Amino acid sequence: MAQSQSSTETDWVSRFADDVIAESERRAPGKPVVVASGLSPSGPIHLGNLREVMTPHLVADEIRRRGYTVRHLISWDDYDRYRKVPGGVPGVDESWAEHIGKPLTSVPAPAGSTYPNWAEHFKAAMTAALDELGVEYDGISQTEQYTVGAYREQILHAMKHRADIDAVLDRYRTKKDPAAAGKGKKPQQQKKVDEAELEAEAGSGAAGEDDGSGGSAGYFPYKPYCGNCEKDLTTVTSYDDDSTELNYTCTSCGFAETVRLSEFNRGKLVWKVDWPMRWAYEGVIFEPSGVDHSSPGSSFVVGGQIVREVFDGVQPIGPMYAFVGISGMAKMSSSKGGVPTPADALKIMEAPLLRWLYARRKPNQSFKIAFDQEIQRLYDEWDSLARKVADGSVLSADAAAYARAIGTAAGELPRTPRPLPYRTLASVVDITAGHDEQTLRILSELDPENPLTSLDEARPRLDRAENWITSQVPAEARTIVRGEPDKELLGSLDEQGRQSLRLLVEGLDSHWSLDGLTTLVYGVPKILAGLEPDAKPTPELKAAQRSFFALLYRLLVSRDTGPRLPTLLLAVGADRVRMLLGA
Ligand SMILES: [Zn+2]
Repeated sequence: MAQSQSSTETDWVSRFADDVIAESERRAPGKPVVVASGLSPSGPIHLGNLREVMTPHLVADEIRRRGYTVRHLISWDDYDRYRKVPGGVPGVDESWAEHIGKPLTSVPAPAGSTYPNWAEHFKAAMTAALDELGVEYDGISQTEQYTVGAYREQILHAMKHRADIDAVLDRYRTKKDPAAAGKGKKPQQQKKVDEAELEAEAGSGAAGEDDGSGGSAGYFPYKPYCGNCEKDLTTVTSYDDDSTELNYTCTSCGFAETVRLSEFNRGKLVWKVDWPMRWAYEGVIFEPSGVDHSSPGSSFVVGGQIVREVFDGVQPIGPMYAFVGISGMAKMSSSKGGVPTPADALKIMEAPLLRWLYARRKPNQSFKIAFDQEIQRLYDEWDSLARKVADGSVLSADAAAYARAIGTAAGELPRTPRPLPYRTLASVVDITAGHDEQTLRILSELDPENPLTSLDEARPRLDRAENWITSQVPAEARTIVRGEPDKELLGSLDEQGRQSLRLLVEGLDSHWSLDGLTTLVYGVPKILAGLEPDAKPTPELKAAQRSFFALLYRLLVSRDTGPRLPTLLLAVGADRVRMLLGA
């Protein structure tokens, strides 16, 4: 394992890595360092929830780079109850409501899915995204753990100490409203997102689960799934500590049963007990959680007391992470009910860029992932950072974030051999509508000295830009090059206007490259004003340039703006430019 660079020791990831290593050596000397994330496959997994994984991933990766063995557990909370039917998911209709209350792994997958059940269907998309992002982890299915009896001892222990658990929970019950009492660990994002996202978020299995039944027989932190209808609408009516005999009835179907918890595997601890139980069981040293945990009575706060008082364990280091928003995801691309998922982001941006968004911001800073025009500026910033890294002018914290973005302890992630500017690629595919031959011609003319010889050199970034144009840019914002000259506009031009077009047309052949055409389009208004080509811009000159550009856009694409003019001219081609400019 490579030692980390000194420059990477100043960022938030390194500071957490220091703390986590120290804490792990104190709690479990010589053992692998354990960090954890939890995801509920209750529907499409929201892009916002990727922070639940990326925060421990980046810390784990730094610890691996330092030569330690790390386990990053991702707990798939697939034994949580199915809470509601998420809206807009293809292959799912209201008939899925009949499964509410069953474990997520007992609910049928959406129609047409190749996966055996609901949870597996939604896990698969997330797993593919995590692979592409270079996230190394141990996935743990809670269905598997519970149904093989992995937590038997812990369940019996929790039942035995149910009065202690009840007492901890009771410290918070009276202080807050009952609706908030069952709040899960998932980040509370509802206030800032649209309705579709809200529905997906509310669908998180852990969120909203109650903290145990408190019927006439007392409090029990364990809930069986019904032996007849599989739902968790059960009430424990009695429990005997010595024999572990448990009686329950189902309020849904009326079924009743007597089981022995010492051999019964169809039920689970309630969320606020389940989470701290697993901290102790796995020896978790680091597990961040969403912002709603800062409140008293949240599952992280309550869990901290339960793990100590009941399971004789220690709470992990658990920073709260802030909201990650999405800007401008087009409705038209909402193939999964309008919920942006990590897979959606990876369609329009390369994995290193997405990693960078998480690496460069401290977990307590919120940020947005751009699906709108902002993605072009973001890519400019990323390319500028790469240049600073290459020439050594980069600041150390920025260098650290860059290094964490482009690879992991296991090696570098795939990158684009010729990373042409994303906004240029987007403009070109916008104009060529993805026509490969035309795209290659234009891209090789960008820099005639060092032409692109194959589109593969520009991939995968080119493909991401193309996906962005086709899935996120609305039809009215797409660029459509005119087929015929605008005779009316051409006829209305004064002598100065006609001369500007003549100068441009005369210079096309000798300036046919991205740099050359840039000089030409800015130079024409200078010549007209009697200025030298390298003249400093004055307000008058800037105004003249703006109106010249607007004229060109109107004549080429019938709008006042468009892709950057040099790119547009290259894309349109010299002959067609001449034709549209009336030459
Ligand atoms: Zn039942």
